[in-house]
Amino acid sequence: MKKPLVFATANDHKLKELRSILALYEIQGLHDVGIFEEIPEDGETLEENALIKAKYLFNKTGLTALSEDTGLEVTVLAGAPGVHTARYAGDQKSPSDNMEKLLRALQDASDRSAQFRTVICYYDGQHPLYFEGIVRGHIAEQRSGKEGFGYDPVFIPDGYDKTFAALSDTIKNQISHRARAVAELLKYLSK
Ligand code: IMP
Repeated sequence: MKKPLVFATANDHKLKELRSILALYEIQGLHDVGIFEEIPEDGETLEENALIKAKYLFNKTGLTALSEDTGLEVTVLAGAPGVHTARYAGDQKSPSDNMEKLLRALQDASDRSAQFRTVICYYDGQHPLYFEGIVRGHIAEQRSGKEGFGYDPVFIPDGYDKTFAALSDTIKNQISHRARAVAELLKYLSK
């Protein structure tokens, strides 16, 4: 029988992706376990937010819980927007407003280096475990590309001359922060 896992997402795309990678687990999303409310994310770091979500799920369901949190960390902004990435330009969580604010903040910057960092938290009621994935790159001078979501039109990963939004899904899924964090989790679960 497959082991049950509950994943803190209501995003079908993320669920489908994780189910195909962790085929030995019966993975349920938030809606499958009857959670429709927004889980508070008031931590000060990606790790804290991931733990808050995983604990919330474990406490509600009693099932081993997985959660993830991602931030864009820009060197000259001392790691900002970081844990505030989704709401960088306000609670409306608008990708367009967020990118505009970021491009403005970097107007005069010569160092445009940045990284996406994903933290996955695995919590089974004992000690939480964390798995990290990072993709390094830099922020473009302007937006380009139509694929992806969020800050994809302004993020150029190292080794490429196009933004995530101008690269294919296949390439992004091989090198992304999320893919790398999931690979670390998979390594642990396959031991
Ligand atoms: P979350 O933790 O997956 O919700 O990500 C937080 C925020 O980071 C999102 O609202 C996006 O703005 C941004 N983000 C996360 N992953 C990506 C990505 O792969 N490309 C572009 N932006 C991303």
